[in-house]
Amino acid sequence: MSNEEQKPTHPETATNTDKVSPFLTSPLPEGAPQGQQQSLEQRLTDTPVTGSIPKYNLPRGANTGNVGATTHFGYQTVNSEEKAQKVAEVFHSVASKYDIMNDLMSFGIHRLWKRFAINMSGVRRGQHVLDIAGGTGDLAKVFSREVGPSGHVVLSDINESMLNVGRDRLIDAGCTNVDFVLANAETLEPFADNSFDLVTISFGLRNVTDKDAALQAMYRVLKPGGRLLILEFSKPVFEPFSKLYDLYSFTALPIMGKLVANDSESYKYLAESIRMHPDQRTLKGMMENAGFQNCDYHNLTGGIVAVHRGFKL
Ligand code: SAM
Repeated sequence: MSNEEQKPTHPETATNTDKVSPFLTSPLPEGAPQGQQQSLEQRLTDTPVTGSIPKYNLPRGANTGNVGATTHFGYQTVNSEEKAQKVAEVFHSVASKYDIMNDLMSFGIHRLWKRFAINMSGVRRGQHVLDIAGGTGDLAKVFSREVGPSGHVVLSDINESMLNVGRDRLIDAGCTNVDFVLANAETLEPFADNSFDLVTISFGLRNVTDKDAALQAMYRVLKPGGRLLILEFSKPVFEPFSKLYDLYSFTALPIMGKLVANDSESYKYLAESIRMHPDQRTLKGMMENAGFQNCDYHNLTGGIVAVHRGFKL
């Protein structure tokens, strides 16, 4: 599905005009830092190459996903700049079928994983929540209800096609306390320091090129006392289960992708990107390295997915 085919809609459905976000009545807010207004050439030239590799207090050989000027796009080694472009192509392509594919691929279990993460968030009425790489808005929709009219949620994503689907969906659901902002997780440029009680990123981090920069940006925008939740695929803890899971991901997912979204390559990338993502301990170390404290994680479905939590104290 191309970008042009997904026109943003206007929020006629919203009833309380005082509460309607200024973002809702205009095209998605853009800014040069997110690269959405720039030409591809500008983006490729301006994007900083991942710099020095931070030192972690981690075992030798731990895979943090950061490999300097090159990185991984699934199993391919690509220039750091190229990865962002390839990831953008994946999500432009799958946006319209994203929700149905999620249900099919996970047999609906992604809903339970997300529910678990929301329960761990401790979100309360009146709070300010940022959902990064929020795509079609599964988490933001629930947070909108939980924080209530005195609270505020920002659904943010780098990809206009995904964010358009999310915006249409949340407007249809009457979520008037949600703003929709295009932003790169690596900088979170549109957001001020110390502005959110809760920051979440669900199945987004593995797509981000410079994960350390993203974790630092998340730390920056959290208020002191605020918490970060990362819901992401991780490393299964039980080896025989892992083999079965590999078989499923590398054969069934691309076939389903072909049949439902007419795109097997994007779902091949999904399977590969999961394998290349830092494991539970490594990600926890990366969070600590970015300044988060009291970090912990919970494995779900035998470690297929993990929820990491950390605090800015
Ligand atoms: N959070 C949603 C969920 O759990 O269903 C969507 C997850 S989807 C698998 C991954 C999302 O990450 C896509 O919407 C994609 O556009 C977004 N993304 C990828 N790279 C990003 C970046 N650097 N900054 C912000 N979002 C990014």
